[in-house]
This record gives sequence, C-alpha cells and structure tokens, in this order.
Amino acid sequence: MGLTDPASTLPGVGPKRAEALASLDIHTVGDVLFYFPFRYDDLQVKSLDEAADQEKITIKGIVVADPVVSRFGPRKNRLNVRVQVDRAVVMVTFFNQPWLKDKFTQGMEAAIYGKWDAKRHSMTGMKVLATQTEDAPSMAAIYPANKNIRQSTLAELAKAAFAKEQGHIPDIIPQVIREKLRLHSDEQLIQGMHWPKTPAEAKAARRTAIFREFFLFECQIQSLREDSQLAANGLAIPFDNQQVRGLIKTLPFALTTAQKRVVNEICADMRSPKHMNRLLQGDVGSGKTIVAAIALYAAVTARFQAALMVPTEVLAEQHFAKLTKLFADFPVKLALLTGTTKGKQRKATLEGLASGDIDIVIGTHALIQKAVDYANLGLAIIDEQHRFGVKQRQILQDKGLKPDLLAMTATPIPRTLAITTYGEMDVSTIDELPAGRQPITTTWVRHNQMREALQRMQQELNAHHQIFAITPLIAESEKIDLQNAEQLYADMQKVFGKAAKVALLHGQMKADEKDAIMRAFSDGEIDLLVSTTVVEVGVDVPNATVMLIMDADRFGLAQLHQLRGRVGRGKSAAYCILVADPKNDMGVERMQTMVTTTDGFKLAEKDLELRGSGDIFGDKQSGLPEFRVADPVADFATLSAAQQVAASLFKTDPSLSAPEFAPLRAYLARQQQLVGTLD
Ligand code: ADP
Ligand code: MG
Repeated sequence: MGLTDPASTLPGVGPKRAEALASLDIHTVGDVLFYFPFRYDDLQVKSLDEAADQEKITIKGIVVADPVVSRFGPRKNRLNVRVQVDRAVVMVTFFNQPWLKDKFTQGMEAAIYGKWDAKRHSMTGMKVLATQTEDAPSMAAIYPANKNIRQSTLAELAKAAFAKEQGHIPDIIPQVIREKLRLHSDEQLIQGMHWPKTPAEAKAARRTAIFREFFLFECQIQSLREDSQLAANGLAIPFDNQQVRGLIKTLPFALTTAQKRVVNEICADMRSPKHMNRLLQGDVGSGKTIVAAIALYAAVTARFQAALMVPTEVLAEQHFAKLTKLFADFPVKLALLTGTTKGKQRKATLEGLASGDIDIVIGTHALIQKAVDYANLGLAIIDEQHRFGVKQRQILQDKGLKPDLLAMTATPIPRTLAITTYGEMDVSTIDELPAGRQPITTTWVRHNQMREALQRMQQELNAHHQIFAITPLIAESEKIDLQNAEQLYADMQKVFGKAAKVALLHGQMKADEKDAIMRAFSDGEIDLLVSTTVVEVGVDVPNATVMLIMDADRFGLAQLHQLRGRVGRGKSAAYCILVADPKNDMGVERMQTMVTTTDGFKLAEKDLELRGSGDIFGDKQSGLPEFRVADPVADFATLSAAQQVAASLFKTDPSLSAPEFAPLRAYLARQQQLVGTLD
C-alpha cells in the first residue's frame, strides 16, 4: 500500500490499461489520485426560469409518456422523452443512445442532465441521473481523457485508489505552510477535486491544487539550485583583472552602469568555484555582445577556452568578425565553426580545439556535435538562448570540464516571471541602453494609409539607407505565408524596383539560400528586404533605418519589439511602421502600446496583461513549464507566493532534514530519479 505503488495494483488495471494510463503520464496510484478533473458538470437541479439558453443544466420531473426511438438517416437515431417539470412539459432528445430507452417509463421520476434550448423549451439530453439516493453527487467530474482511456474509467480508478489509500495519504505541503495559507490537506484536496458536492467546494480544492502544483515545482527548482551550488565540479576561473581592464579600456565607448554591473556579476561567478548557471537578459541593443566578449576574454586570461554559440550562421559570422576586430591587438586565437566549415579548415579547427591551441570559438550548433572536443573549455555562452532548447544548453554544459554557462536573451521576460521560468538560473539584467542611441520613431497606419509609409520608405532609400519589410507568419498555413510575402514583394518591386534592389526571404528557402540573402543585405547589396518573420534575431545591419511590419496586429508585442530592434543601430534616425487594421479594442491597444513604449520590459509586462504568457514566448520552445491545474499567467499571484514560500523553506532548511519535511523530501528525491532516467 502506498502512493508510489504502480497503478497496476489497482483493481481492473492489467497491462493494457496500465499502458493506456501511462499515455496520460499516470504510472502510480498517487498519479491516479492526483490526476484531477479539469471541469465539472453541475448536476444540481435548476429551475427552468433560471436557466440560460444553451446552458447545461439538470432537470427533474415526471416522465409523462413512454419514450420513443426514431431513425433519421443511416445509423442515426434519436430518443425522445417528454418530462413534466413543474407545470411545463419539456421534450428531451438523446441522440444515438437508443439503449437509454429502458431507463424511462411513463409516470416515473427522472433527473436528466443536458443542454437547455430556451427558445424551443427543449433539451438535448447528455446524462440520465439517479434520483433515488440522497447523496447522489451533484457535480460530475470531467477528466482530460484520450483515445486510449475513457472518462468513466478514470473516475472509477480514482475512487478505487482513494478507497485503498484513504487515511494513509502523506501531506506533501508542510503543515506550517498549510495552516498559514489555509490550504487543504492532500486527502481533503483529493476529495474536493474528484468529488465536490458544490461548486464552492470544487473551487476551494482548486485553490489548494494550484498552490500545491506551483509549490512542488518551485521546490524542485530550489533543490536543483542547491545541487548545482554544491556541485564539487564547478570551475574556478581565476582571470587576470588587469588584463580584463586592459580590454575594456580599448573599447570606443564607456560601458553603461548596467553593463558594468552584469560584468561584475558574471566575473564573480566565474572566479568562484561554484558552477555558473546564469541568464543574461537585456533588451535589443542593450549591448550584450560586449559583455559576452569581456567574459570570453576573462576565461582566456585564466588559460581556459571559451565558446560562444549562436543560432544562425550569419550571426556567427557577424560575431566572429566583430570579435576578431576587438581582439586584434590581443594574444587571443579565435576560430569560427559552423555547418559550412568544411574540409581542411574544419579539421584544423577541431584539432585546435582539442589541443587547446584555439582560445575562443564562435559557432552554431556545430559547436556541440559529438566530434567536437575541447581541451579545457571553461566558459560557454549561448546567445539568443530562447532559440535553443534546454537540451542543447545541457549538452554544451556537459562538454569537457562542465564549463560555466552564460545564456543570453533579448526576449524580455518580466522579472517576476523569469524567476519562475529560469528558476534554476541566476539572472542578470541590463536594464539600460547605451546613451546617444538614435530614437526609433514608431508609427501605426491603417492599410489605406500606406501612402505615408511608402513616402517615408522612398526618403530613406534616397538617403541610401536600407529597409526591412515583414509579413507575419501564420502558423496554420505556410502556403498563405509565402503568398503574402510574394505579394508584398511584387508590390514593393513595383513601387521601388526601378531604383532599388528588392529581395525576398522566406521560411521555405534552404538555410544556405537564406544565409546568402541575409549576407547580401548585411553587405548592403540589397536595399529592401521583404521577409516573413525568419529575419534572424540579433542581426546587426546599422544602415537599415526602416522596419515596415504588415498586419502588425498578428504579432505579439514582444515579437514586434524584437523586429523593431533590428533598426536604429546606426547613426541615422530610424522608423518602425506598423501597418494594421486591428479587429478589436485589444488590437488597437496593442498598436498604441507599441507606438508609446520603447522599453522591452514594460512591453513584456503589458503583453502579459493583455494576452497572457503564450504571446510573450510565442511557442513551446520558450521553456515555460507546463502545469496541469495551474496557469502561470492567470494564477500568477499564487505562483509568486509559492516561489517565495519555497525559497524561504529552503533557506531555513536547505536539505529539508526536519521530520515534517520528510514527505516533501521523498517527493523531490523521486522526481530527481525520474529526471535521471530520461533518455
Ligand atoms: P544586443 O544586446 O542586442 O546583442 P549588441 O551587443 O549588438 O546588442 O549592441 C548593440 C550596439 O551597441 C553595438 O553596435 C555595440 O557596439 C554598441 N554598444 C554596446 N555597448 C555600448 C556602450 N556602452 N556604449 C555605446 N555603444 C555600445
Ligand atoms: Mg545580440
């Protein structure tokens, strides 16, 4: 007996059903108990006057005529039952469930759950309920099921599991915390979630369920953090302060206060023997690259190798060129390694990395291939980390000496949410742009005001500046994306094609085609680049002064901000033109927010407020963890509370040694084992 027993110890669970359960990630008896319904049908009888049209309600009344089954098409039939409710007669229709006929006889009392049609005064029946028993449940739990397993099976299993374990369910949330926050015990929670008697009971249980889910997640993060800080194999990188200062002195500008602060944070981590696992976030253009360069150099002064991994070849080349220039007068050996590094050169680079001859390597995914060995990699930096998965972060980190890791991102995440998303990482933030930046003027025009936009574009082309013109990605249809982009390309060609070189870049091109076009744009051979959103993050084309974004209301604010950050990098004033006819108030508000706000972090917060986390992160790769009951955005206050509670718990008792934490400790140990068994 126990929650960790396999689910197959429950009655009726053979190998086949166990497999079906596993497909829902249910493996143990405890998993069954904590596999909660996502909603409930309210089976409480409702009077017809109160019921709204199309509302799902339960009615109770007397069956006034024997039920009738009729066919209406091949394999389609309906069962009609007339039920007198108060003084009205309601026609209830069940589709394709002829066997229910036996449940009704004239004169009996019946309770039926279904969808109410107020206009016709009729109901589409969904369930026939028992009317006899006093304590028949009035809330029916609906579980997230799949094709392998039925709702009703999940409901039965929950009952069986509870019957078996009731009275022996340990409380994972320590009592002090439960009492302080007035949360349910795990046993109360299970009862309240699976078998609530009223909506209020379900709601109360849900409150605990949400907290519990966040709390366990945050405890996992806390314990990961403990582990990585205790890890004996962290590297101490005793860099040479004097030399690092020497590099900073050669820069053509002074570091901003924020840059200095994060450089100090990073250097302190490197010097200490603890393993560095740090996220550096900073708005587009805030100057992360130079911070990275300083850290890379610091590692080299301590005679370690350092690597910088970026998501695309173009970006790798750009960084390589920049760093080569930066280190021109320093005894640093640099190399570039990407998918297109071939033949002799590749061989030489691999040898140089293995022998320790190369100090700093800049590259793409190529850096983490099996064939790449490092002599003494001490620091690994990942630029635009949101473009890489956690897995790649892991592989890079496992190369050689378990290097210190710095991940950089320009996807602004509100500080609070960052704590939860990247909880296991320390976060450094550059919250200030270098002085003297050219402001980017953002305007919003409707489609029928394009002429204004075209005038601005003409002006900039006349001044020999370059332009990005972006069409949105519509995930459902690559074909339509391409059509949109091709249409815009044709239009731009028509308007500007005589004097300017216009090119098209889209997602269906091969990687090397894309790179070639990006390179040509970056080299100034293309004046106007029409593109779907594949425009590479981080690309620096200082001569580009206009970012035209079509159907801008289709983008998330964060993405718009990223795109906008592609311009305004040179000496001339820059423009971001949003073309959109938003369909609702929210769309209008989003466009106005873009026009008035240039601070990426403020925008991210606004995005959060307006639409929820999905839009900040755009896609699943974001690394935002998925929760079952809780929603990190909707339930953000609870998430925050759980984070604080977990942090202070670990502060007082880092190893959770007190007896009252034993169930929590056991839970965390089990989770860690599970992670260990993944691939
Ligand atoms: P991002 O953070 O988006 O990666 P970059 O590192 O590409 O930004 O920096 C953008 C531009 O700002 C670069 O041209 C860089 O040389 C310049 N820059 C960086 N730091 C400073 C500074 N402290 N003062 C002036 N310019 C700076
Ligand atoms: Mg960058």
